[in-house]
Amino acid sequence: MTHGSTHRAVSDHAAVAAAARAERGTWMLAALYPSSATARGVAKHIRNGSEKYPAYLPVGSYEAYAARAGDDEALWVRYVAGKEPVKPLPDHMTVRVRHEGGGPGYEGVGVITVAISTRCPACGGPRGWDTVTAHSFRHDDAWLVVDRWTNPCGHTDMYDAVVRESRDRPLPPPPIALPPGGATGPVAVVLSAAQVRPAMHAAQAALLLEEQGYVNAAELIRAELRARRGHMSAKQAAAYLTECGSPAASLRTTTSTRTTP
Ligand SMILES: [Zn+2]
Repeated sequence: MTHGSTHRAVSDHAAVAAAARAERGTWMLAALYPSSATARGVAKHIRNGSEKYPAYLPVGSYEAYAARAGDDEALWVRYVAGKEPVKPLPDHMTVRVRHEGGGPGYEGVGVITVAISTRCPACGGPRGWDTVTAHSFRHDDAWLVVDRWTNPCGHTDMYDAVVRESRDRPLPPPPIALPPGGATGPVAVVLSAAQVRPAMHAAQAALLLEEQGYVNAAELIRAELRARRGHMSAKQAAAYLTECGSPAASLRTTTSTRTTP
C-alpha cells in the first residue's frame, strides 16, 4: 500500500484553482493526503481565505471539503464566485435500493430506503445526488421501484455496497425541519422518529403517538390515513397535524391521568 507517502500531499493549487475557475460550480479533486486531519485543515484554510493558500483567494471564491477516498483523504474544491447562486451540495441523499435479503435464492428480495453520504467512497467526489431517478422492475408478481443515479466522477455505486455503507457508516441524524414557530408536542415526536426511520409510515406514527399519550393526534392521523387510502408517510402525517393546528391534537393523556371512558 502506498498510504503515508508524502508526495501525494504535493499539489499544484494554482493549477487546480485555475481549472476550477474555468468550470464554475464543478467540484475538482485538488489533492490527496495520507492524513484526514491535514486534509480537513487545508479545506478549512481555503474556506476561511487563509493566506497559506493564496490561489483560492479572495475568501468566499471557493468551497472546499475533505472526504475519504480509499486509503487517502481527498480535498475537493469548487469555484463559486459570481452572481448566480451555485446549488449547495447536501450532506446526504436518501435513496431506494434493491436489497437481496438474507434468504436462500431470491427470498427476501425487496427495496429498502437508505440514507448515504453524497460523497463517493472511492474518490470522495460528489455523488450524482441531483441525478436520482426512479426505475421500476418486476419481481415475482409485483412492481418494485428503486432509484438510480450517475456519479460525475464515473464510479458506479452498487446496491450491495450502498446497503453496507448505510449500515457501516451511519450518518448523524440531520437537523429536524421544524415548521415556522417550531415543532412541539406530537408533531415533534413524529418528526424525530421519521428522521431516524425515513421510510416510516403514518400508521406507525399514529401508534407511536398513542404510546406517548397523544391519543387525539393518533386518531386524527388514522382518519386522514383512511381518507388517503393508506397512502401517507409519517412525515406527511406530521405535516397534516401541523396543518390541522387543532389544540385538541396536542392534548396529551398520560397513563397517570387517563380516565376510563
Ligand atoms: Zn468517485
